[in-house]
Amino acid sequence: MKLSEAVKKIRERLPVELVADQDNVGLIVGDYDDECGKMVVAYELNGGVIEEAVESGSNLIVTYHTPLFRAAKSFTTSSSRPDFLVQAARRLLNVYAVHTALDVVRDGINFDLASRLGLRNPKYLSPLPDTLRKIVVFVPRDHLEKVRSAMSKSGAGMIGNYTGCAFASEGEGSFLPGDGATPYVGTPGKTERASESRLEMVVEKSNAERVVRAMMDAHPYEEVAYDVYPLLNSSANYGFGAIGDLEEKMSGEKFLERIKNVLGQAFLKAAHAVDSEIKRVALCAGSGVSFYGDAVRERADIFITGDVKHHDFRESMMLPTVLVDATHRGTERFAAELLHRIMNEIFKDRVVVNLSKHEYDSAVIV
Ligand SMILES: [Zn+2]
Repeated sequence: MKLSEAVKKIRERLPVELVADQDNVGLIVGDYDDECGKMVVAYELNGGVIEEAVESGSNLIVTYHTPLFRAAKSFTTSSSRPDFLVQAARRLLNVYAVHTALDVVRDGINFDLASRLGLRNPKYLSPLPDTLRKIVVFVPRDHLEKVRSAMSKSGAGMIGNYTGCAFASEGEGSFLPGDGATPYVGTPGKTERASESRLEMVVEKSNAERVVRAMMDAHPYEEVAYDVYPLLNSSANYGFGAIGDLEEKMSGEKFLERIKNVLGQAFLKAAHAVDSEIKRVALCAGSGVSFYGDAVRERADIFITGDVKHHDFRESMMLPTVLVDATHRGTERFAAELLHRIMNEIFKDRVVVNLSKHEYDSAVIV
């Protein structure tokens, strides 16, 4: 499979457009014309992963963390951050990073962690804003079903657990075909009035182009009248963090034990001993302390994340939601495993997907 096709498949499953403003994800180094038959999936790019890829005959490395978070003006082996990219490029390896594109999907890192910690029916803690578009198209009544079905099949009308959501109202369209037009109804030079439906469907912006193409293909008119509106609603399909309830209330002490067991974490940090009962749990894997306010607003009993600073703990002492630091790496413990599963789903038998054995902590207890 060409790398360009592999990248397209990954982007369809984990849309980078949704997080492009805040993160550097997608193909970081690569040649779209390369043939790709084998890949290595890893938490981060490092020397061990590069050797592993070369030894196993893989020319694609898919990582969770992006190896190029900040803009760089040069790539040299003497600068510490991007040198793994130089090494990868010199070994003719392609590197693709998913990072927050894996965070914001329903079966991504946060819902995975929520399920491991026993949260029931988790929802997004902070649904993504500005991901929705409304497509409105005017269609002759005899083609309403065909157009609606084509748009649905392309992914329009998905709202939470519902698919194919659409609204149609009846009206009259009018138009004057010009010279050289070949109208579906009417004749050039004569104003035509036609019974039309106004069909409305919501769509994720990452999918809007595909839906418009499908809509145009199914529509009988030579010139299709349609509008694409941005919506102010937050997405039901993409977001950061997760929040949900435990099946039963449990003591803070017991729940902290559960976190440690699930994450294989020797210790956790909190501002004080957790002596309250826990039922409603919010979390955000990685550096998620900026979502602590959402957890408080949603009345979570506890919020679990990583990279919590001294002053974050201080401020949390005045608020009812217990803030817990389970470390950045601890909360992302299962990222590579999850990514491996998703890549296998995407590529099935077409690309061999190996999980890296070179997982290591960038910070360890010494
Ligand atoms: Zn991270």
